[in-house]
Amino acid sequence: MKRRALLEAMSKVMFAGSMLPVLKACSASNPGASRATAVSPKLGMSKADWREILPADRFAVLFEEATERPGSSPLNDEDRDGVYICAACHLPLFESAHKYDSGTGWPSFTQPIADSMGTKADYKLFFRRTEYHCIRCGGHQGHVFDDGPPPRRERWCNNGLALLFVPEGEPLPALRG
Ligand SMILES: [Zn+2]
Repeated sequence: MKRRALLEAMSKVMFAGSMLPVLKACSASNPGASRATAVSPKLGMSKADWREILPADRFAVLFEEATERPGSSPLNDEDRDGVYICAACHLPLFESAHKYDSGTGWPSFTQPIADSMGTKADYKLFFRRTEYHCIRCGGHQGHVFDDGPPPRRERWCNNGLALLFVPEGEPLPALRG
């Protein structure tokens, strides 16, 4: 195929891709395309350090950008008041008041706690998604989409393995790292 035709074909695929219902999904598993999340240097923690501390499944999501199986997290059904914290460094990331059932099988929120997340573009599925990560440790949390409920219309689609839930009234664990 000539280069020009190839580019046209690619742009069509990308346009069509942006309309696909796959957008409703949180993320597709694609281990071959895994990229390392930038680990925050300010904590002085390397990926190897986190690997020692965290269970393998949590480590894979947080620091190797794996995506848990939809419907697999007990946090999907968690409806108590409380705070969701980063499973790696324990920074509070979401409040229960902003959790909602998106029907995707992943814990979903309409907004994070202010200044708790960093974002970056992610082309893993061949179209642009916005990946977000804990601002403190750099741990990958999930992807944010623009099909959430009003008024913000944001859907913060999170891996349950990247979070710990602390019910209201219980003390938050000390920050780690
Ligand atoms: Zn963190």
